[in-house]
Amino acid sequence: MTTTETYKLQLLNLRNTLGNEKCADCGTSDPPPDFVSINIGIFLCINCAGKHRAMGEIYSVVRSIHLDSFDEKKYEVLEQTGNRNAAKIWEFSVPLCWSPPLQNDYEDLVEQWIHAKYIRKEFVENADSSLLSYLKGTKTGWLFKKEKDASKWRKRFFVLSSQQGQLSYFIREDDNKPKRIVQIRSINMMFVSEEITQKKHSMLITFPFTKNREIKLRHIYLHSETSFEIVDWYLSLRAARLSFLKPYLYGLDGVEVSRLLNRSYIKMGFLHKTGSKKGDGWRKRFVCLDCRRFLYFSNAMDPEPLGDIKIESSPNNQCLFEGVNGTHPASPTPHCFYVRSSVNDSSSVKETSLVRESSRKGRNPVFNFCSETNEDMKEWISAFNCAMKSDTVESVEPDTDSQRTSQLFRSSSSSSEE
Ligand SMILES: [Zn+2]
Repeated sequence: MTTTETYKLQLLNLRNTLGNEKCADCGTSDPPPDFVSINIGIFLCINCAGKHRAMGEIYSVVRSIHLDSFDEKKYEVLEQTGNRNAAKIWEFSVPLCWSPPLQNDYEDLVEQWIHAKYIRKEFVENADSSLLSYLKGTKTGWLFKKEKDASKWRKRFFVLSSQQGQLSYFIREDDNKPKRIVQIRSINMMFVSEEITQKKHSMLITFPFTKNREIKLRHIYLHSETSFEIVDWYLSLRAARLSFLKPYLYGLDGVEVSRLLNRSYIKMGFLHKTGSKKGDGWRKRFVCLDCRRFLYFSNAMDPEPLGDIKIESSPNNQCLFEGVNGTHPASPTPHCFYVRSSVNDSSSVKETSLVRESSRKGRNPVFNFCSETNEDMKEWISAFNCAMKSDTVESVEPDTDSQRTSQLFRSSSSSSEE
């Protein structure tokens, strides 16, 4: 066996040791990390290896375990460093508002995580955190906002003030009055794929508002010109939420805190849907699936949902079935499933009367869905299963009726009173 092949085998063995079996930057093990950075001494997945290559060899020298040749010196760097030791250096101190990327996470977040670690060296020992823009508590700048009734995006001037607990936006930078103010206490934000927005670097913010004495959820889609900017806004908003929620976070671990700062929808996309009334026809709707509820819209990126439906708690998946329930016209495709919603839903717009009617009859309303493909249907079923597994409807607000969150906040506020 040649020396090259010997090193390749040794490298593959080294990759299977603890810490190296997952990508150093996104944590994925499927596909396994088939690449290494020979100067940093880490194992990387193909996706992160591409991002390392794009930084240039001044920061990271990327090699393929399978295609490149290795010598003793290169092997030793990897053997002596490895992903676990490298993390102790490059992730020595990561601010809580950062959410390190997970497998298949939003591309911009992965890219900026890698740049923050190795180019800007934000998390190394003795890094100056006072220089980090997202920790300053204020941020101003232009973002493109999706217009309400058109496919247009317009530039708006956004102002975040952690101290005032508000995110505002203005039509012009020197306007006295903001067009809208959103409270940090109830804002949620998430990245959104280019498939949905047709724009790179896009984010969705959601927040409750009152209309006709009903509380509804508003969606605002934003995009920026660079991945740095959109991630900086995202982190600044998380940092502002962290600062607002601080009194309530006593005793929670990093994962729990992160979940309270914001969360993404489990799945977003188009589905055909029926109402719950007998004979209701099928309509194509844009559906956003959240913990224990789904929202549906006439079109993707509409600001207000047509309906906001709670899903029953289901420890044994008794509320999700393949096929069609009830008497309805023929479905547009054969890939159908249905979901029972919760009878005590009060926040839906159009369905409220149906829900009440069904409730009076002692049965839960059923919504049929159908996907364009069988694969998509399987993905939706798996996403609905995931949505129903959550014990309660989680909220990003500390004082809502969310049982678990209230419990967390109750226990933390009583602890702080003691
Ligand atoms: Zn990776």
